[in-house]
Amino acid sequence: MSLLPFENLPAYKPRHFVPAEIDFGDWTQIQPLFERLETRITQCASLAELEQWLIDWSELSAALDQESSTRYIAMTCHTDSAEAEKAYLQFVEKIEPETKPRQFTLSQKFIAHPLREKLPKQRFEVFDRDTRNHVQLFRPENVALETEEARLSQQYQKLSGSLTVIFRGEERTLVQMGRFLEEPDRALRKEAWEIVANRRLQEVDKFEEIFDKLIKLRQQIAKNAGFDNYRDYAFRRMGRFDYTAADCEKFHHAVETVIMPVVRELQANRRSELKVDALRPWDLAVDPLNRPPLKPFEQVEQMVSRTQKIFNQLDGELAGGFQQMQDLRLLDLANRKGKAPGGYQSTLAESRLPFIFMNAVGLQRDVETILHEAGHAFHALATRAEDLYAYRSAPIEFCEVASMSMELLGNEFIEEFYSTDDSRRARRTHLEGIIGIFPWIATVDAFQHWIYTHPGHTRAERSLAWLELMDRFGGDVDWNGYDKSRAYLWHRQLHIFLHPFYYIEYGIAQLGALQVWANSKQDKAQALNAYKKSLELGGSRPLPELFQAAGAKFQFDAPTIKPLMDLTRSELVKLG
Ligand SMILES: [Zn+2]
Repeated sequence: MSLLPFENLPAYKPRHFVPAEIDFGDWTQIQPLFERLETRITQCASLAELEQWLIDWSELSAALDQESSTRYIAMTCHTDSAEAEKAYLQFVEKIEPETKPRQFTLSQKFIAHPLREKLPKQRFEVFDRDTRNHVQLFRPENVALETEEARLSQQYQKLSGSLTVIFRGEERTLVQMGRFLEEPDRALRKEAWEIVANRRLQEVDKFEEIFDKLIKLRQQIAKNAGFDNYRDYAFRRMGRFDYTAADCEKFHHAVETVIMPVVRELQANRRSELKVDALRPWDLAVDPLNRPPLKPFEQVEQMVSRTQKIFNQLDGELAGGFQQMQDLRLLDLANRKGKAPGGYQSTLAESRLPFIFMNAVGLQRDVETILHEAGHAFHALATRAEDLYAYRSAPIEFCEVASMSMELLGNEFIEEFYSTDDSRRARRTHLEGIIGIFPWIATVDAFQHWIYTHPGHTRAERSLAWLELMDRFGGDVDWNGYDKSRAYLWHRQLHIFLHPFYYIEYGIAQLGALQVWANSKQDKAQALNAYKKSLELGGSRPLPELFQAAGAKFQFDAPTIKPLMDLTRSELVKLG
């Protein structure tokens, strides 16, 4: 496809099972491959045959995955191309609904195979555990409920996306309104904040109604699968074998006791820098010293070459990986007309190569993003030699360690982008952002624990539960006069509606990244070696082992967090 920024990429290994010439847009060409795998597993009479069968299945899964990512990349790089959109939708609507049930059948057949338990334990236990979990939780009667859940999620997105306000004579989306909260003029910020808050309040009942229906559905889904409550079901469904609800509660407690004092201290600084008596909700995003935004680069080529220089100083191997991505044109980073918004890292699963998509415009946020996504890309490069498709990706709790560590490690060389003063400011902003996100993660997570362990609660009780969490984790922000907005603040958090319980992963990963960073302060070479070794493991080991390989503890209690906060705080003091 000529719509791709990169040339045709060969498979990492020549195909062995999938034909060299095949049209993945044509189900009749794919179907025989699934049929062959279904038949062949019943004939696997030795462990060697079963392992080869797993590798062939992996080959097919990776080829299908790459086809899907390739079509997605083409579409997001050319939103104005009807051809690219058609090709992507054809795959999602015609091919994936066929492949999904067939993939599930293969999982079932694998789990039922008599030789399965004889596979080498160390090598296959994670794959086996995850596949078994997936098969065991499936309930045919939940399929229709999940479709309904997806429909309600769609309603939430439609409602959120449809909200606009008229501000200064122009209709604007709520996302577009965000930038006014960075304006130095306090009265302007207040006006912008209020108009958005009031617009949301008009829709409170609709949001509540969607959520009530979602809770009911989720409880039924959990019950059908044999669980008392949706929380316990969600933990299993998300493959959380290595931590429990009680560990999450420890995390909430640690944030409250160890991180909140630092948050309050930062809030007090902000208050005095802004020269205001109290921080109001519209005072949280503006630069407290009213400086213009940092300008790390003019041209995207500069962003790439400066990022390359950062990696050159950090580690030869990682630098080589980033250079390779440049050479193969696996970066599409500049903002231009006809590109989808946002940024992502995607892996071309058969070539075993990463691709990074961004819309860089010359802000500090872009520097953070390229370092972050490069961390994900290094993860993909590190697992290239792994033949089992499932092991070439790790659980999200660890994927984000790869990316968030790279933000912290890369920031040590941020002078490639800035003067000394601006470098301090960039580091400061980054570290404050890290501290500031923990309380929100704890709030969103603890709220969902409450929701799904209090079936039959009323809307009033739910608001009260939220407000109690705002008291615990909101810090010193004066909401006087805006009680109702405060009580429904959670309506804007998409994850609560769309991806229940998926959020604490970022807190867990950030703790891992802070530990990698802390290690690098002691011994940079050793910390980087551990980081790279842990990336190579992909998803082949359970989370505690992945963390351990990276030189980090898989714990999120106060004793683990305290030294990390002390270090971050002392760095902030140094930055002045
Ligand atoms: Zn990420």
